[in-house]
Amino acid sequence: MRVVEDIATVRALLSEHRRRGESVGFVPTMGYLHEGHLSLVRIARARAMRVVVSIFVNPMQFGPDEDFERYPRDPERDRRLLEAEGCDLLFTPSREAVYPEGYGTEVSVAGLAGKLCGQSRPGHFDGVTTVVLKLFNIVQPDFAVFGQKDAQQLVIIRRMVADLDLPVQIVAGPTVREPDGLAASSRNAYLSPEERKQATCVYRALRGAEAVVRSGEVRADRLVDEMRRTIEAEPLASAEYISVVDPVSLEDLEAVGRSALLTLAVRVGKTRLIDNLLVGAGG
Ligand code: AMP
Repeated sequence: MRVVEDIATVRALLSEHRRRGESVGFVPTMGYLHEGHLSLVRIARARAMRVVVSIFVNPMQFGPDEDFERYPRDPERDRRLLEAEGCDLLFTPSREAVYPEGYGTEVSVAGLAGKLCGQSRPGHFDGVTTVVLKLFNIVQPDFAVFGQKDAQQLVIIRRMVADLDLPVQIVAGPTVREPDGLAASSRNAYLSPEERKQATCVYRALRGAEAVVRSGEVRADRLVDEMRRTIEAEPLASAEYISVVDPVSLEDLEAVGRSALLTLAVRVGKTRLIDNLLVGAGG
């Protein structure tokens, strides 16, 4: 596995692969890798001749009071894990390489970026789309793999790719969970043992609502109430939003039709967790 910090070197190595007709799959990450990230690398590995992973904790997607400085980092361990997964190229650019002096361009997907997580994290998704577009331009992959765990991010990136005619296929990887259902996340490292226990309410809320849909209740407000009760039963948990939305437009739904995204953001202690589940009234 080559580990490269420099943009020009990444371009040179990848143009060589493309010249030989080798397909390139790409997995962008912020590092502190867990099974969720590695599952995306395996998806890329199965579909492409060359796999590129980036690790870049992108300052542009963190708000001023967010956890950019204390975001967990373990580059040595990440490197070992990626080597073991058969990653070909690990791209770890510096902040200065991505945003040099005088940097001025932002990419924003109007509308979608302001919904759900965008309400409490203004500018977050503009930071995401900006860095992802830059990474796509540097790596020029045939496809890129993103986790369903970050459902809004996935919707926004698909929108950007369609809107800007980017020649990149977007592949979604299913959410990887701990045995008790908590979605794997680098931020789980922030949870104290007691918070970690109570954090299981997030997935329990989703599964509870899914069961309610199966029993025939499709009204969104009833499902939201049901999920809210599950979250509020845990003293350390508080819901930031709980929504039932269309999986493509992210517009609020009044009722679950053929498919709906149950999605929520919950603070457990100081840690903000997100999760979602796709459900459909048809089963
Ligand atoms: P991050 O390092 O948090 O920026 O995440 C990098 C990629 O991994 C994104 O596409 C995430 O959606 C994906 N990801 C994060 N957690 C999970 C998970 N539990 N299951 C599947 N994919 C995930």
